[in-house]
Amino acid sequence: MSCLYCQHANPVDASECSQCGMPLPFEAAMAGERRLRRFTWFCVGLTLFCIVMFFWLPRSIA
Ligand SMILES: [Zn+2]
Repeated sequence: MSCLYCQHANPVDASECSQCGMPLPFEAAMAGERRLRRFTWFCVGLTLFCIVMFFWLPRSIA
């Protein structure tokens, strides 16, 4: 995990930067990861919905 202030690479379990001493945004990173996971599931759901609709809706005879 890199520091937001000095870009120093810190170990994942560190609570503050070992170089500048600023607290690392662990909670923000976790929230971002959760949001990304929810977005991924949203995309999967949307894809499944499209596939179901593709087979369920009648084909238009043009
Ligand atoms: Zn730092």
